[in-house]
Amino acid sequence: MKVTEHIAQAKEPIISLEILPPTKGKSIESIYSHLDPLMEFKPAFINVTYHRAEQVYKKRADGNFERVEIRKRPGTVGICAALMNKYKVEAIPHLICGGFSKEETENALIDLHFLGVKNVLALRGDAAANEKFFTPHPNGHRYAEDLVKQVISLNQGKYLEEDIMDGVKTDFCIGVAGYPEKHFEAPNLDTDIYYLKRKIELGADYVTSQMFFNNKHFYNYLDRCKEHGVNVPIMPGLKPLTSKRQLTMIPSIFNVEVPVELCNEMLKAKTEADCDQVGTEWLLEQCRDLLRNKVPVLHFYTLGKPKVIYNVLKQLF
Ligand code: FAD
Repeated sequence: MKVTEHIAQAKEPIISLEILPPTKGKSIESIYSHLDPLMEFKPAFINVTYHRAEQVYKKRADGNFERVEIRKRPGTVGICAALMNKYKVEAIPHLICGGFSKEETENALIDLHFLGVKNVLALRGDAAANEKFFTPHPNGHRYAEDLVKQVISLNQGKYLEEDIMDGVKTDFCIGVAGYPEKHFEAPNLDTDIYYLKRKIELGADYVTSQMFFNNKHFYNYLDRCKEHGVNVPIMPGLKPLTSKRQLTMIPSIFNVEVPVELCNEMLKAKTEADCDQVGTEWLLEQCRDLLRNKVPVLHFYTLGKPKVIYNVLKQLF
């Protein structure tokens, strides 16, 4: 079922989870052991992230270094199929512009359509590790809105090869990313929402938000999006913060604020278990407040801490 249909029909808040494919060489069992306990809460969707190749330097036998491209986390499409098969759940693959040509994207969309995937999250992706700014693939897209356009074209039966007449129409429901504390490249929140609105006007159906640790950012974002005429569902992205290291790591990677109260509690924690407890309590309060404010979906970034998410969900439902 499409995300928008789920939301329209839901009588209870919907749970959505997000996972990363395992690194190359690791088994899919690591995903199952991560997700198995969480299935008790009947998530409606499981998002699977998409990852571009990275340039790394490998030492050759002669002592010189060689630059090679390695895709450390392949398998998004296969994992979606496996999750749908095993858990009978809607899997939502992420698609990114960075590192992929339009043709590779089209082929991935064809595979997903054949597998019965109904939803995709269309993203730009970040700059490659060796670049300061995002550079599109020579035959790819610069912005997520261009990827949205490609998915919409395929939904209309228009393929890249113009000779394909009467092409099968796909029917993807399209999600896009939104940033309650603005995307780090955007000059201000209004400009960022202006571009979000363009993605919606082109045909995107819903928004999944970047993580935030202070709900006031999310409520402000909902208000500002409404003022700009963005009227599609916006799902809050939620992540437990469970270590002192994350107090500096999360803001630097995701450009989000960690509130002073959360920092203070985390700094007081003495053991790993104390840190987990601080993260659990904070996330639980965030969720309770969001549910009181009638948010229809809670989207959890489960990476690395499924037990914390489990404990939060157990206390919520
Ligand atoms: P865009 O919507 O293209 O926006 C990028 C920037 O350009 C913004 O500052 C925006 O304001 C601006 N902009 C947009 N359109 C235009 C335009 N036409 N002209 C000028 N400026 C414009 N990354 C991955 O690599 N893999 C993933 O699986 C992944 N999953 C994610 C899931 C979620 C829910 C979120 C929030 C992020 C995810 N990311 C992922 C990270 C994301 O790829 C980065 O945040 C990226 O930098 C921006 O992606 P976007 O889709 O928001 O880009």
